[in-house]
Amino acid sequence: MKQSLLALKTNKEAPSDADSVNARLLTQSGFVKKEMAGVYSYLPLGLRVLRKIEKIVIEEMESVGSQQVLMPALTPRKNWETTGRYGVDIAYTPSENTVLGWSHEEMVTPIAKEILRSYKNFPLSLFQIQTKFRNEPRAKSGLLRGREFIMKDAYSFHPTQEDLEEYYEKMAAAYFRVYERCGLKSYRIKSGGGDFTDAISDEFSVITPAGEDTMVFCSSCSFAQNIEVATALPPVFSQKEEVGELEKFENDRPKDIAKTASELGIPEAQILKTVVFVQENGEMLGVCIRGDLQVSSEKAERYIGGPLRSASPKELLKKGLVIGFISPVQSTTIPFVCDESVTKIVNFYTGANEEKKDYKNVNFERDFSGEVGDFSLATKGFSCPECQKELDEAPCVEVGNIFDLGSKYSEAFSLKFTDKDGKEKPVLMGCYGIGVSRLMGTVVESSHDEKGIIWHKNIAPFQVHILSLREDEEAQKLAFELEEDGYEVLFDDRNESPGKKFADADLIGIPLRIVVSKRTLEKESVELSFRATGEKEEVPLSGVARKVWDFYEGE
Ligand code: ATP
Ligand code: MG
Repeated sequence: MKQSLLALKTNKEAPSDADSVNARLLTQSGFVKKEMAGVYSYLPLGLRVLRKIEKIVIEEMESVGSQQVLMPALTPRKNWETTGRYGVDIAYTPSENTVLGWSHEEMVTPIAKEILRSYKNFPLSLFQIQTKFRNEPRAKSGLLRGREFIMKDAYSFHPTQEDLEEYYEKMAAAYFRVYERCGLKSYRIKSGGGDFTDAISDEFSVITPAGEDTMVFCSSCSFAQNIEVATALPPVFSQKEEVGELEKFENDRPKDIAKTASELGIPEAQILKTVVFVQENGEMLGVCIRGDLQVSSEKAERYIGGPLRSASPKELLKKGLVIGFISPVQSTTIPFVCDESVTKIVNFYTGANEEKKDYKNVNFERDFSGEVGDFSLATKGFSCPECQKELDEAPCVEVGNIFDLGSKYSEAFSLKFTDKDGKEKPVLMGCYGIGVSRLMGTVVESSHDEKGIIWHKNIAPFQVHILSLREDEEAQKLAFELEEDGYEVLFDDRNESPGKKFADADLIGIPLRIVVSKRTLEKESVELSFRATGEKEEVPLSGVARKVWDFYEGE
């Protein structure tokens, strides 16, 4: 394809409203055009990348027996009423009786109902690649969080839980393959499980500074979890102390744990910290934890089964809790729960619910108690629960997720089947999403340099970029030959300076570049370079095809 004919306008300047690398580079290099917050047009280069990612996704979905369908984006209100999901904030409702699909359980379940009657009709797995609409309150970061975006959503139907779980694992493996083929290292984050929830779901995330989430992960094994809910082992605090007698003492100290610890000359871990939350119904909950650890509000919410907020100074006072000196010791005004960490420490220091009064030699069970659970925020420095190595933490973006839906939607739509034993049973469902356009943005976040994008060879808009430095005839000939060999070639035949051609090529980021110039043609050769490494080599014209083959087809 001749670059002079391509609907492409690159821009030297970054767009002023770009809030992320992908927003900036994809716009600047003419892959997409921002239309409004969270809404983009895909221009020819951008669409080529998107289609390649889609092709990978389709191949991997088909590899696990999922069949492609296309459901409407404009969906009937009644289906959403059936499941109780009509009127949610995320949904756009263009008219009284329609909803723009933001997920498609409401459409796919009735389709499955037409197909599934008996146990003989299984397996069934359907997927689509489609534009989703979501009224995201904070559309941002280019393709990472759109209000209109492209998703692959798959739905599977099962006669038994065992069958569902087996398929769920096959999907998980297919997800890893999708990301790997796009050049991304992904982590599987188990978001279900934990102490207080049993819903099965997994997120697939990629580490990138642009990510909205944070994960803790192990570099030695594959352990990864969202920081909010991760269960990991806190740094060990070893003591050789005898249990002492509880003692109240005057302590005119700062209200800050680190400063208090250094004033008392004790480790922060020996201070008992209590964080007080308020439930929706106004009831309070104190969470006790080792002073060097933080409470995960998400874990506390899961324990309570509802949202929590921090207690205000006024609310604390009303319960006789003195800020900076809050203590579960001999305190019954509110219920307390205890993080596991507090059960292992001998002789805590903590407040005494009076100004400038502390307790020392505070011990779990003897001086305070409460239901014990995991309430700690696992951060860098915790140990991996699987291999005991030290964990790291990093911002990440969720590029996909998979859910065990159980019978939630099949029950809503009465999707049942007749089993071998002649009994009618509800169908079990799994659902599996990949943010296809988010994936494209994530690749850019993960793979770029100061000059532009660096596409992975599997998803680059073109495979070879030929730059003619006023040697159009030879360059065109080479482009034809490579196209004949089946490669996608972008041939920069524009009447532009070499500097502009190089800068644009760096910005666009095609993996393999061939510069056709007088200097090398005199030696019957061209200059071949790799976008990722910047490596250059002079290759005789007769050897170009082999080099390109090596790069794309060879090991
Ligand atoms: P998030 O927590 O990021 O909002 P989600 O839990 O709402 O994601 P799902 O509803 O399960 O995500 O959607 C499946 C996939 O679609 C996600 O894993 C993500 O990759 C992608 N996705 C979700 N919301 C958006 C969005 N607003 N823009 C782009 N991609 C999205
Ligand atoms: Mg969301």
